[in-house]
Amino acid sequence: MYPVIRVKNRKETLVQKCKSLTCGDRVEFLTFPKLSAIEGIEHMFTTRLGGVSKGDCATLNFSFTRGDDPEAVLENYARMGEILGVEKGAFVATDQTHTTNIRVVTKEDAGKGVTCTRDYTDIDGLITAEKGLVLSCFTADCVPIYFVDPVKQVIGVAHSGWRGTVAGIGTRMVECMEQEFGCEPANIIAAIGPSICQDCYEISEEVAVQFRQGFWEEEKIAGYCSETFETGIHPTGKLLVPGKEAGKYQLDLWLANIIVLRSAGVLLENIEVTDICTNCNPEYLFSHRASGGKRGNLAAFLVMK
Ligand SMILES: [Zn+2]
Repeated sequence: MYPVIRVKNRKETLVQKCKSLTCGDRVEFLTFPKLSAIEGIEHMFTTRLGGVSKGDCATLNFSFTRGDDPEAVLENYARMGEILGVEKGAFVATDQTHTTNIRVVTKEDAGKGVTCTRDYTDIDGLITAEKGLVLSCFTADCVPIYFVDPVKQVIGVAHSGWRGTVAGIGTRMVECMEQEFGCEPANIIAAIGPSICQDCYEISEEVAVQFRQGFWEEEKIAGYCSETFETGIHPTGKLLVPGKEAGKYQLDLWLANIIVLRSAGVLLENIEVTDICTNCNPEYLFSHRASGGKRGNLAAFLVMK
């Protein structure tokens, strides 16, 4: 098993797994215990290990837009399909442009963005109530979020970079699950996947200002921050801390997304948060910052069987 640097003073959450493929290669991926415990759900967060891509995208890249050989990307999907028990035509992909747009997908959408072209653009979140469809979103420092309502049998994935986070895509996802499928926020299990940690994520004053405005009501935030600190989920409960340089800040995207989910009514005990940072582990996970932009994309996959 590849050694991983975990962020200190966080509750350890992600489980590293390793599986052999029929071709003989071994694939490493990460899972969340709270999602693994739900019957009929398969999920994974991929690593760089176990694919066929070369160069900057080595080896397990899931994007067709990073200069990788499309045949290699398709083989990578087929490999993950083998583990998830689906064909590569069962995956459906976002079209990520840092929006809060969400698409409810059905079996008509199977393969879109992977084995066939998409007939939609600017979609950062996917939701479905259909079995056998693998919802897929892509990251390399940005935050992937998984959503499962085991009561209504509805699942979702979202890409939440700082723009999506400050605009509350996590809240939009919960609202969409409520409106389209009658889900209760209190039943939703959510998982915040591997992405950049607070210590690695420096932002400008311009970005910091946006996190102090808008729907980010100070009092509510303070409440959510202190509960994460008191329950030991977060070491300090601080969303923004002074940066290493004057005028800069360190933003905690993980805590920010906890706040987004809490404000949508998701219970704290139903939220699982990564303790693995992409930028701290650039050999194991693709990181935009660590690679200077020369990298492939990791994937968050979620399917109901
Ligand atoms: Zn880090």
